Amino acid sequence: MDKATELFQTARQYIAGGVSSSTRLNKALDRPFYISRGDGGLVYDLDGRPYVDLCTSHGASLLGHNHPKIKAAIQSVLDLGIICSYENEYHTKLAQKITQVVPSAELVRFVGSGTEATMYALKIARGYTGKEKFIRFEGHFHGYHDYASWSYAPPADQEPVDGELKPYRQSDGIPEGIGQYAIVTQFGDLAALEKVVKKHKDEAAAIICEPIHYNCGCIVPDKEYMKAMRQLATDNGIVLIYDEVLSAFRMGPGGAQEYLGVTPDLCTIGKCVGGGLPLSVIAGKREIMSVLRPTGNTEHSGTYNGHILNVAAGLAAVTEMTSPGFYEKIYHIADRFYPGFEGIIERSGVKARIQYLGARFGIYFGIDTPVRSYRDAIKSDKDMMLKFIAEANKRGVYFHDYGGKAAHHGFSWAHTDADIDRALEGIEGALKALR
Ligand code: PLP
Repeated sequence: MDKATELFQTARQYIAGGVSSSTRLNKALDRPFYISRGDGGLVYDLDGRPYVDLCTSHGASLLGHNHPKIKAAIQSVLDLGIICSYENEYHTKLAQKITQVVPSAELVRFVGSGTEATMYALKIARGYTGKEKFIRFEGHFHGYHDYASWSYAPPADQEPVDGELKPYRQSDGIPEGIGQYAIVTQFGDLAALEKVVKKHKDEAAAIICEPIHYNCGCIVPDKEYMKAMRQLATDNGIVLIYDEVLSAFRMGPGGAQEYLGVTPDLCTIGKCVGGGLPLSVIAGKREIMSVLRPTGNTEHSGTYNGHILNVAAGLAAVTEMTSPGFYEKIYHIADRFYPGFEGIIERSGVKARIQYLGARFGIYFGIDTPVRSYRDAIKSDKDMMLKFIAEANKRGVYFHDYGGKAAHHGFSWAHTDADIDRALEGIEGALKALR
């Protein structure tokens, strides 16, 4: 028995399902993808075999693994005594940097996960408007708290009525009653959004969306649609929230809001902002963020909020991601990788396509026309995806499986040309093996 299979057997005796996060059981491998260490664009398995990492911690490791400046930042605050639950200058410095580059960010608050960030963003919108419901989009993912766990991966078995879909409960354990707060519509359909806003404007505190829909691979919306959504929110006293947990810093320092040229009222920033440590941010307009206690009456508190290790790592990460040349490198890699991947698909004769923006991309199997919606994306062939991921893994290229669904993959700033060429070679071999 190999080391990974043996470790999984032991893990299952002590950890529920053998994993610390349900989706870490890789369906392409029938076990978690165990790694012993990471460095730059590579991760190493338990036997020390290297893999080009095209998961990059689900996007958290945009700087690559083992970045010297992140390590130095962590080390410098460790030497201060592992202080916890105190404010210090790192918080202010990081907050200031974020407000300098993210258009909607006038004030910020720090939390750990993206899940917490969207939970609080919705709460702030409620605190500000006095309304309780929120408008969300079928297939958009906003983390795992009970308010967010509706319709992020529903079956496409209903047609909208007056632009609206019945909320689909994504997990056991969530009170059915919480579904009443989610008003679900389809992304990209302005007429549907207009109807839904008209009907619910007096009860909808927020519209929340993934401004670049990376959780279905990579769907870039029409800018005019996003502008119209902005206007609808403004005209109807609804707080517009961009969930940029994944899209922040992905294609430029100001994230999707800068890329689209549309400024939301609030946004959530996660993953790469912590340089690989658990840090997320709720940011937005001063007037709205000021509803938080102690200036307002909406609570956001916690022992570990803005832990110094995470904030110091975040400050180092944001400093790197806003340094001259950072995005030139990202686009240099993109220009080598994406056309290379597209050429391989074309040569392979496999029906597939990729869609991409900045450092993240989606792969779709059985589809060769543009994927524009959640319902297009779920037509991607899951069996082919899992086979492809397993074959790529054999060839030293790591993609997370996401159960075979069309989802997001990506590279880091630290991937070298050689890493990308190795990845392309592995991808070519994997596609050949599929035929
Ligand atoms: N929002 C979006 C858009 C995400 O992609 C994710 C995670 O993938 C989350 C929220 C939840 O973030 P976390 O996994 O840090 O809780």
